[in-house]
Amino acid sequence: MSNHSAKKIHNFIDGHYVSGSEGKSFDDISPVDGSLVAVVSEASKSDVDQAVTAAKKALTGPWGQMSVSERSRLLHAVADRIDERFEEFLEAEMADTGKPRALASTVDIPRGAANFRIFADLIRNEPDHVFQQETPDGMGALNYTVRKPKGVIAVISPWNLPMLLMTWKVAPALACGNTIVAKPSEDTPATAALLGDVMNEVGIPAGVFNVVHGFGPNSAGEFLTNHPNVDAITFTGETRTGEAIMKAAAVGVRDISSELGGKNAAIVFADCDLDKAVSGAVRSSFTNCGQVCLCTERVYVERSIFDEFVRRVVEETRQLRIGTPKGEGTDFGPLVSSKHRDKVLQYFEIAHTDGATIHTGGGIPDMPKELQGGAWIEPTIWTGLPETSRVIREEIFGPCCHIQPFDAEDEAIHMANDTPYGLASVIWTENLSRAHRVAPLLETGITWVNTWNLRDLRTPFGGSKASGIGREGGAYSLEFYTEIKNICIKI
Ligand code: NAD
Repeated sequence: MSNHSAKKIHNFIDGHYVSGSEGKSFDDISPVDGSLVAVVSEASKSDVDQAVTAAKKALTGPWGQMSVSERSRLLHAVADRIDERFEEFLEAEMADTGKPRALASTVDIPRGAANFRIFADLIRNEPDHVFQQETPDGMGALNYTVRKPKGVIAVISPWNLPMLLMTWKVAPALACGNTIVAKPSEDTPATAALLGDVMNEVGIPAGVFNVVHGFGPNSAGEFLTNHPNVDAITFTGETRTGEAIMKAAAVGVRDISSELGGKNAAIVFADCDLDKAVSGAVRSSFTNCGQVCLCTERVYVERSIFDEFVRRVVEETRQLRIGTPKGEGTDFGPLVSSKHRDKVLQYFEIAHTDGATIHTGGGIPDMPKELQGGAWIEPTIWTGLPETSRVIREEIFGPCCHIQPFDAEDEAIHMANDTPYGLASVIWTENLSRAHRVAPLLETGITWVNTWNLRDLRTPFGGSKASGIGREGGAYSLEFYTEIKNICIKI
């Protein structure tokens, strides 16, 4: 379907935009109406090799000799330039993802800039450690640690929060002095490509930040993670992809940080503030059309308030305005692609077969003719499924949640934990003792009490169990993006 007049998105290698050396390209399709957004140059194995070679060389150039304060100044300049080019980033993100302007303009793009600022400041203030030692001869030794960049970092990111999640890795990696080859999702290549231009504008040396476009297996993703000169891989995406990337990282014993899938639960106790719990559940299930790794797909509600809770959540969900990114008051856009919608609709089918009661949604909404090529879907609420249903066991990553009653605190904790995943959980209760008692028992990297997705970028972020390995955020990111070296001086 390639089109000569369409916008082109190229790879960004060693400070230049280049097409794929094998002349391959793929289409970037709008999830809003199925139209062509851009034609994207697919990086060949040799293009990926060039990007990695440029990144390796840049480690020892001016970037490698740069003071921490100069690096920090440049990262602040990147953030400032993202702010100045805010509308371009916003347009690019909305065109690729179809997400509402209200969301992309308050979360995705501002967080992209904020990610650079927090790590630019953090790196200037991070102390090293000193250990005084008494040696057997009664003299002493001084041990101290220094942080060194790990080297060339492969950044592999998904399509749900393209700018936010890519910069969540790129910013700390650069702050620590590494160089980067980024591979954004094939569904959302635009903001990563634009970031290359920003790097040039503010004076980040050529080769420090590179972007290659393409798919996973037998394409840019796999070429990159298999490249022997990549020193570490940071990945966000599906658990199954994470497993494949871990195997690639095993060759040469390279470090990996992975933020993977989830099947997040919320527990709503009868002693909650019901207004807040209802709005919170709607937000945590349907933000970004349910395509946030932290979204809630399972809600457990104490039986005495179950019926009222379901009624009110359904009522509030029905008020969500489905529409285009720029549409008046839109708070719910399409899924990212028709392919992803097919996957989500399969789970809608399974829910039906497994005997779910559908309280709202369950299909494709009626959209105007010009939007019918888009990946539209209805926000959907079910009750009545057995906990063994695939709808309850597997990550759907769509706008749907199943609400289940419980009678006892232990039972709710057991059901919330009965999953291979361990990313996020939410508790709704006004009982402080209960909050403190239950939160540590939930097997997730983060638990929110009476809120959802409230983030402080200094805190550790990551998953337990099949939801990932490692923590990123604040000083925790420095653990992954640096090699700590100890120097021992005998006195
Ligand atoms: P995905 O795993 O399909 O793809 C992610 C990236 O990996 C893409 O860039 C893709 O091209 C690349 N890729 C795929 N196969 C590869 C391979 N074999 N080698 C190298 N690269 C490969 O994930 P997605 O569908 O883009 O994103 C949705 C998933 O991401 C969901 O499971 C969601 O839960 C997860 N996610 C997790 C977090 C978190 O912080 N834990 C955040 C956002 C999304």
